[in-house]
Amino acid sequence: MRLLVVEDDPDLNRQLVGALEEAGYVVDSAKDGEEGHFLGDTEPYDAVVLDLGLPEMDGVTVLEKWRRDGKIMPVLILTARDRWSDKVAGFDAGADDYVAKPFFMEEVLARLRALLRRATGHATSELECGSVRVDTRSSRVTVDGRAIKLTSLEYRLLAYMMHHRDRVISRTELVEHLYDQDFDRDSNTIEVFVGRLRRKLGKDVIETVRGLGYRLTAPEDAV
Ligand code: CA
Repeated sequence: MRLLVVEDDPDLNRQLVGALEEAGYVVDSAKDGEEGHFLGDTEPYDAVVLDLGLPEMDGVTVLEKWRRDGKIMPVLILTARDRWSDKVAGFDAGADDYVAKPFFMEEVLARLRALLRRATGHATSELECGSVRVDTRSSRVTVDGRAIKLTSLEYRLLAYMMHHRDRVISRTELVEHLYDQDFDRDSNTIEVFVGRLRRKLGKDVIETVRGLGYRLTAPEDAV
């Protein structure tokens, strides 16, 4: 899953990006509202962490513009502790959730997990597909209860596909959601990672849909 962090405080920006990357997400970041708005407008993010007090363009305006242009990704806003009116303005502009500063990173991570799973129609942090289970809290993956070790890119690929199970996902979409904006993207590498996941999880877990992409389905659900 690919996230965007828009936060002008350099320390907080770095802490957020670091914690999110450690949690297995790909992260782009912006330090002002204009750059943040541009990225959210042009890149497909699975969720956004948006500070409201930003230089160039304030967070509420950024959010309003995205929503007016039909951008529906979940947005978690960061607000000042004592400014209840900011929360109201943020929600009215299209925010999905908020965290007040100062916050514990664990809370941001938990709220993002909830937003990501709700946006893709899942009720819990533990995603299941046949014998494969992914615990998005711990990034733990098991097959028939047996722990499987994945590299970070393999994990990102599996987590994205688990969130979007039963849907055909194109290679382009996978590339867009697994790498950050600076990465030199080559959709052929996706095939390599799909191959590795099949070897680790079982070859029937990921189905190739010729000419269209890949689909993650539980074998018993396959038609
Ligand atoms: Ca700020």
